[in-house]
Amino acid sequence: MAEMIGDVVAALGPDGVDSNSLRLREEMTNTLGLQRDVAAIFYPSSLTEVQDVVRIAAHYQVALYPVSRGMNIGYGDKMPVGQGQVLVNLERMKAIREVNEELGYAVIEPGVTQEHLFQYLHDHNLPFWMDATGAGVEASIIGNTLEGGFGHTRLGNHRAEISGLEVVLGTGEILETGDFPAIGPDLSGIFVQSNFGIVTAMKVKLLPVPEHYESFVVKVDKDELLEPLVAQMSKLRAENVLTSLVHIANATRSLVTTQTFPQGYNKDRVSCEQALELMNRGALLKVGFWTAIGCLSGSRRVVAAHRHRLKRSLSKIGTVKFFTDKKISRVENFLSLPVFDKVMPVARLRESIESLKYIHEIGKGIPSNKALNNITWRVKDRKDLGLIWLSPVVPASPEKVRLMMDIVAGEFGATNFEMPVTLTSVTHDKMVAIFSIIFDKNKDEDVAQAHNLYFSTTAKLKQSGIHMYRSSILAMKDIDYPHLGKKAVLRQIKGILDPQGILAPGRYIS
Ligand SMILES: Cc1cc2nc3c(=O)[nH]c(=O)nc-3n(C[C@H](O)[C@H](O)[C@H](O)COP(=O)(O)OP(=O)(O)OC[C@H]3O[C@@H](n4cnc5c(N)ncnc54)[C@H](O)[C@@H]3O)c2cc1C
Repeated sequence: MAEMIGDVVAALGPDGVDSNSLRLREEMTNTLGLQRDVAAIFYPSSLTEVQDVVRIAAHYQVALYPVSRGMNIGYGDKMPVGQGQVLVNLERMKAIREVNEELGYAVIEPGVTQEHLFQYLHDHNLPFWMDATGAGVEASIIGNTLEGGFGHTRLGNHRAEISGLEVVLGTGEILETGDFPAIGPDLSGIFVQSNFGIVTAMKVKLLPVPEHYESFVVKVDKDELLEPLVAQMSKLRAENVLTSLVHIANATRSLVTTQTFPQGYNKDRVSCEQALELMNRGALLKVGFWTAIGCLSGSRRVVAAHRHRLKRSLSKIGTVKFFTDKKISRVENFLSLPVFDKVMPVARLRESIESLKYIHEIGKGIPSNKALNNITWRVKDRKDLGLIWLSPVVPASPEKVRLMMDIVAGEFGATNFEMPVTLTSVTHDKMVAIFSIIFDKNKDEDVAQAHNLYFSTTAKLKQSGIHMYRSSILAMKDIDYPHLGKKAVLRQIKGILDPQGILAPGRYIS
């Protein structure tokens, strides 16, 4: 390792390598409640430096673990899958290589954050929006895409929008996947949720700013109305009435992401019914047992027609409210009048409008730290937060969604943890559920219970043919590929693109 670090220092300069044990430990801080040791961190700042690092690592047969910004919170943060690997932090490769104003795309490097791209479009007054996730302003765009992450707009299913990748393979050679239509197979997809290369650039589509934009919130008061809600949402998605992703949250999810653990519950489990009551006390915009959010955009006439259709389709299921920029700023200005401070308790009302503004703006590709800063459930300080996302995917059929909900609720019911969940129609025919397991990571019994819950639930779901859409570091070695022959072919590709197995060993493909 010392010899290898010497070679890397010669290639990147002394500030391109960190082997200070205290900092290495800090960098491995995570919400899963796991301990990981890394041998060093390398900070290449160009394509050729990435190639140098890979060739040196191949020579010494040392495993590298690349991250873009390392904000994979709830799935592993910056942690490699195995112990003793070297972290390759690509945060210094933060060039926006091109923004094509005519065709509406950007070519970016891995260190480009949501904030960087958003600010670039804003500062250059470009008529485009990006797609943003809830992962905060400092999260990357490339790392999120390589995890199969998703956002909110019609470009929200990131892995489906991927093209033009520049990749350093395990041999140090460069592969350009190209931009399609073009000749031959499209190789871009094989770099998502795999360990075949280090991606050093990617083409990202941008959304032309629409003539008109409205966000919407659907409030559904009863649990048993989830089935018709799912059916309608998937129908409207299939018919392109809803082109954006729709996120459906239970009241528990709304509660844990906006409030701290309530007084008077003596650390008992807060039920969804109790969460509903706590959320709606003094709130301006009430949530439902299920609350769906999404957005409509296009010409004024198209949005008006889609608004009408959405309202009609949901008339027997829940209430729909629509929000424009104007409407939100009117309420915001109204509530900021100092007179309110004297006449009524406005804190909850202002909180509601802030949450609503966040939902409205994320649909316009405006990244924010709101969701990130708000998770302090069961802990006083973010640094104590234990968080594991459990992310199964099911067909968007009401029966399948209910089956999944029942299985997961049974497992959560045997613990002390609440069951916050969002169901996202990532495509018209697939629903991805994101259940949060939230705990105090400083308590051994909480960590053990959280890990057991993750594994018992994945095992139970598997018995019913339901698998994860994305995995946390916790479970990489247990990944099942339900499709015939896939695991074997992935292993063969790994052997060709990374013959010494030095890139992120164990990540999705073992
Ligand atoms: C409050 C909150 C909200 C969240 N909201 C969302 C959301 O809306 N949507 C969502 O998808 N996720 C969400 N997340 C999960 C997570 O935080 C994001 O997915 C985040 O974008 C991942 O961090 P990153 O972009 O910095 O990627 P990284 O951590 O840099 O990358 C993730 C993984 O991809 C691989 N990788 C990264 N870069 C490269 C590369 N250049 N070459 C090869 N492999 C690479 C590595 O294995 C790495 O571990 C949320 C998390 C929290 C806590």
